[in-house]
Amino acid sequence: MRSAYGVGRDWPISYDELEPYYCRAEEAMGVAGPNDPLLQSPSERSKPYPMDMVPWSYGDKRFAEVVNAHGYRSVPIPQARSTRPWKGRPTCCGNNNCQPICPIGAMYNAIHSVQEAETLGAHVLAESVVYKIDTDENNRVTAVHWYDNQHQSHKVTAKTFVIACNSLESPRLLLAAANERNPGGIANSSDQVGRNMMDHSGFHCFFQSPEPLWIGRGPAQSSCLVGPRDGAFRSEYSANKIILNNITQVTSATSVALKKGLVGPALDAEIRRLTTHGVDLSISLEPLPDPKNRITLSKTRVDPHGIPCPDVYYDVGDYVHKGYDAAVKQLEDIGRIFNATDFHVTTALNANNHIMGGSIMGSDPKDSVVDGNCRAHDHTNLWIPGGGAIPSASVVNSTLTMAALGIKAADDISKSLRA
Ligand code: SF4
Repeated sequence: MRSAYGVGRDWPISYDELEPYYCRAEEAMGVAGPNDPLLQSPSERSKPYPMDMVPWSYGDKRFAEVVNAHGYRSVPIPQARSTRPWKGRPTCCGNNNCQPICPIGAMYNAIHSVQEAETLGAHVLAESVVYKIDTDENNRVTAVHWYDNQHQSHKVTAKTFVIACNSLESPRLLLAAANERNPGGIANSSDQVGRNMMDHSGFHCFFQSPEPLWIGRGPAQSSCLVGPRDGAFRSEYSANKIILNNITQVTSATSVALKKGLVGPALDAEIRRLTTHGVDLSISLEPLPDPKNRITLSKTRVDPHGIPCPDVYYDVGDYVHKGYDAAVKQLEDIGRIFNATDFHVTTALNANNHIMGGSIMGSDPKDSVVDGNCRAHDHTNLWIPGGGAIPSASVVNSTLTMAALGIKAADDISKSLRA
């Protein structure tokens, strides 16, 4: 972002270095995506998706037909939902219940990886909270101390340590574990731990289409407009991702129809009309890493173990607000293409919980926490992989990048253990 657009930060690794790890992360999580290059974004792939795409519903197909005819590019979203039996997971049956959890286990979640790791010999200690980190005269980590659920303290020593609690809990632990040699916190000689917090601020656009789209069959989200993701404008305002939300609209339609005072068959008919014709677009914006957006340790609040809770300061910033204005113009155009009625765009930005930053990656140890392998600049045997390391957030959900960085870190750890 810094080299190409003069804003934000650069990655210390290239896309080509990371791309094979994306493929490995897709394999690990069982991702289904389009194997037709015309439907891919990006299409520069070294391997096909492990499974072919989740079939589009009628609404996805019709939406793409309408907007793509006007220069937009709506393509399938790769997603970790099985389209064939996959490592014990059944095939997605498209019943639209993906949030908060897939009831049949067709969708990936981290439990699958934990179970796989346990099968390979990992020992998972539930309800165990690390609070202290020991370092030696070379600033190598020598031990971590943790509390069990009875507040009994334990200690483990090792050659190699990984802190992978993502963007809130990793920085909180690193700051809370400050010791004599690291008075500002572990891995924090740059003073960047806890800084550069990011999330994809989001908003929604709702309208009624003159023709029914029958949203609500298939997974919760399957298609996305990829055109507004990149361009020279990124030096001035944020890119955006526009997703066609495929979550059934029966609940919101019912609430609107009831407010109209309808009852009986008229109520049924209105719920049906609103549900079948309703369109909900979910938009995400790209934040810039800003050192002022940060986590610090609370001076007034502690958790039940007495460890300070995180305080968060977060200012969305002009870059994102200007990106919102640009996205609204695109949405108004889409509304015109559809001859939409009841068109409205939400004004309050919502969190998307794609938490990034806090242990940012960079090539300069003076202004970053980890290197391109997520190894701490300050401690040669400590890795801090995951979303915390991401130096530019783009507009796309952060999970695949977090997993790819985790696998890249694992390769580096493996290499260092064999050295
Ligand atoms: S649609 Fe969602 S909830 Fe239903 S099977 Fe597929 S992934 Fe699971």
